[in-house]
Amino acid sequence: MAKQIQAIRGMNDCLPTQSPLWQKVEGTIKQVVSAYGCSEIRMPIVESTHLFKRAIGEVTDVVEKEMYTFDDRNGDSLTLRPEGTAGCVRAGIENGLLYNQEQRLWYIGPMFRHERPQKGRYRQFHQVGVEVFGLNGPDIDAELIMMTARLWRELGIDQHVRLELNSIGSLEARANYRDALVAFLEQHLDVLDDDCKRRMHTNPLRVLDTKNPAVQEILVDAPKLSEYLDDESKEHFAGFCELLDAAGIEYQVNERLVRGLDYYNRTVFEWITDSLGAQGTVCAGGRYDGLVEQLGGKSTPAVGFAMGLERLVLLMETLELTDVRRAVDVYIVTAGEGTMMAGMKLAEKLREAVPGLRVMNHFGGGNFKKQFKRADNVGAAIALVLGENEIANNTVVVKDLRGGEQKTMAQDEVAVQLTELI
Ligand code: ATP
Ligand code: MG
Repeated sequence: MAKQIQAIRGMNDCLPTQSPLWQKVEGTIKQVVSAYGCSEIRMPIVESTHLFKRAIGEVTDVVEKEMYTFDDRNGDSLTLRPEGTAGCVRAGIENGLLYNQEQRLWYIGPMFRHERPQKGRYRQFHQVGVEVFGLNGPDIDAELIMMTARLWRELGIDQHVRLELNSIGSLEARANYRDALVAFLEQHLDVLDDDCKRRMHTNPLRVLDTKNPAVQEILVDAPKLSEYLDDESKEHFAGFCELLDAAGIEYQVNERLVRGLDYYNRTVFEWITDSLGAQGTVCAGGRYDGLVEQLGGKSTPAVGFAMGLERLVLLMETLELTDVRRAVDVYIVTAGEGTMMAGMKLAEKLREAVPGLRVMNHFGGGNFKKQFKRADNVGAAIALVLGENEIANNTVVVKDLRGGEQKTMAQDEVAVQLTELI
């Protein structure tokens, strides 16, 4: 036998047994984002490497260590997108969607990061992102939080996620803070691990979200970002918190929340679950008012978030929220001369009469027992049985595969019975 070829490590198949839950999650997200007037945008999966370097930042973990970058046949450096915001902004500028306009966009699709695969962390993973352009105020930031809160309610996970937020202020405020933080860290070099020392020089704010308990301990006395915030950012943040209070949304201000990508300013937030272990952030985002200009567009305020679908699906599985509609509602069982074509015709009639009904015909022969077993395997709720007698009389036997009862009905009436399966 030829040697099997395996999938790439950290890149998963979504199997037919898993896809119904994925579809439910995706369907719910689509309904919720549409309820807030967002329009879908679809960007390429591959972009020029420069885009991510410039948008995400040269010294971020994503750009330094995680990107899938390669030269194409022309020698151009291309990268599989590690996130969606950069491509969305690029597309917005290139197509004239942003300048002097308001846009509320969403996207869904695979992202790629070369990280160590583990539960909730993969090399190909999927995000849904929402990006809003052209709005300055904290009102839209608050509405995005309300949108995500609604989504958690719809998915049934609202009791299992909590919201953390922070303001990281203006670029200038952050630069001042950065100097103060570095000065502080320099006095504690003996405690810092290699990773923190490296970050101290490249991206010192990232030291704040270290997982090292010894470093966390000294950080208690570190200068606070909130003390360096510019007045406008403070006011923006106060407005944001007030709106969340009014909307009845609970949150915790986490002064150490800084996010790993360089483009954020002012509002940053994360929705976190404690049910998935270390990979607990299911949704993260914030404001990035400087990015459009940084990527060559005219200055445009922007705010958005992205959520990791694998983590949402894992959370739903952990909470056993896996009740989903199966792929087949009705299974057509036939036996006897000329019944197969009659079965196919009946199936077509039902698909026509009951939009959305999922009907499967049995093919490949076999006795009733085998056919009912198959009906059961595919999860059908009802079997319709057609034999020579039924065909002669224009009837069909309707068998409830869950309750067990069965009755004979006129073929013309059966559709009405099946509408309740949808
Ligand atoms: P983390 O701290 O978990 O590495 P991040 O800050 O790198 O997350 P973002 O770039 O903000 O993540 O991406 C938004 C969301 O996408 C995350 O909150 C998470 O749900 C999901 N995500 C990010 N990286 C991965 C990955 N490698 N595998 C699965 N999901 C991911
Ligand atoms: Mg990461």
